[in-house]
Amino acid sequence: MSLDSKPDNLAILRPAPRIISREEHIISRANISESALKVLYRLSNAGFQAYLVGGSVRDLLLGREPKDFDVATNAHPEQIRELFRNSRLIGRRFRLAHVRYGREIIEVSTFRAAHLDAEDAAGESLEGRIIRDNVYGSIDDDVWRRDLSVNALFYNIKDFSVVDYVGGMQDILAGRIRMVGDPVKRYIEDPVRMLRAVRFATKLGFRIDHDTEKPLQEYAHLLQEIPSARLFEECLKLFLGGYALQSFEQLRHYGLFGQLFPQTEAVLATQEGGFPHTLLMHALDNTDKRLAEDKPVTPGFIIAALLWTPMKELAQDYVAQGQTEHDALNLAGDVVVSRQIATTAMPRRFTQFARDVWKMQPRLTRLAGKRPQRLAVHPKFRAAYDFLILRGQAGEDVEELVKWWTDFQVEHKDLMESVQVRKPANRSQGHKNRRRPRKPK
Ligand code: ATP
Ligand code: MG
Repeated sequence: MSLDSKPDNLAILRPAPRIISREEHIISRANISESALKVLYRLSNAGFQAYLVGGSVRDLLLGREPKDFDVATNAHPEQIRELFRNSRLIGRRFRLAHVRYGREIIEVSTFRAAHLDAEDAAGESLEGRIIRDNVYGSIDDDVWRRDLSVNALFYNIKDFSVVDYVGGMQDILAGRIRMVGDPVKRYIEDPVRMLRAVRFATKLGFRIDHDTEKPLQEYAHLLQEIPSARLFEECLKLFLGGYALQSFEQLRHYGLFGQLFPQTEAVLATQEGGFPHTLLMHALDNTDKRLAEDKPVTPGFIIAALLWTPMKELAQDYVAQGQTEHDALNLAGDVVVSRQIATTAMPRRFTQFARDVWKMQPRLTRLAGKRPQRLAVHPKFRAAYDFLILRGQAGEDVEELVKWWTDFQVEHKDLMESVQVRKPANRSQGHKNRRRPRKPK
């Protein structure tokens, strides 16, 4: 298939783009990373089309600093590879190039057409799910496979214009999240788009357009078909993006949260306004505040907060059945975590973190003899103490205990500092800077 060829009937149906010239928008090359500019110019000088796409164009138009820069081109992956010695091709189904400049990676993808073909056995389109979107195309194929109109704007390095096929510019100005095309169809093709609509609405402070919003509740269950590893990646973006609390509230509002954390949803539904709600909201709020202050956060802590109440209720059942508190906690931790990873595949280091924090809660109540000294030097002590504070904030009867441990740390400053020195630098375990390998590019 030649690059720009497409069936004539499609070409007729497709609207022409609106070209927003340099004078009519605020994107300045001064705000585009040097590496991204290098990539754009080299492609362009070699005779290829080269555009900045996706989140970077959206963020630049909003006067925000883009997290990263993605480039789209009509050059094929092998041609990109040849042009950039500092590049490597990644992905099996969708091959794209990563061009590296020091720590910065520019992701360069070839225009692709969303290829939905129910009769194509090789494509195996199950109930409209996109299986193949690895067919190369042109810019006006590429635009229609993108999720939100605000994510479907292209910045052309040739004349510094913004190319808008989908009314994305109007939506940016109006603060509106709108799915490209028919929302129901697009959700069926890829249910994760429902989470993305909510995530971007929250992050940008945008309102979700009526037609984009309406199907969410009804189609939320489609998330059950998404591989658990991909759902976990999305959860990280939802809860470590600096807007965890709002994301949580919006996800619940649209009936999406229960698809991600069914056990948590079950207790929230029965105890609305009670402990679990407050504990989780405090935890998410703290997470957002820490991120705003550039402090490290760990997914393990959020997982501990998300699953605390389901775990505690189960542990209480086990105690009622005659288990010791210690065994009940262990067992309940096992069960709750293994049920959860069926939905969101969380790496073991995170679930282990959560379970350590849980297991330390009863230990924090044993204050006789030298026990506190031993506990205070435990590598997870700080997290366990922070979690105790959280329980206090949520109304659990641990205020005295929190005060006891706070005083203890002041009185044993030397001991506490000795632990700090021994511990390696407490780096963020978030995925802030990691490139995500899986996106339908
Ligand atoms: P962020 O600031 O979070 O990186 P982004 O818009 O760049 O935001 P990415 O996940 O990096 O989001 O994806 C890059 C682009 O790829 C998006 O802007 C969108 O155009 C397209 N895209 C990503 N995921 C999907 C999807 N599930 N369906 C359709 N298009 C998608
Ligand atoms: Mg991006």
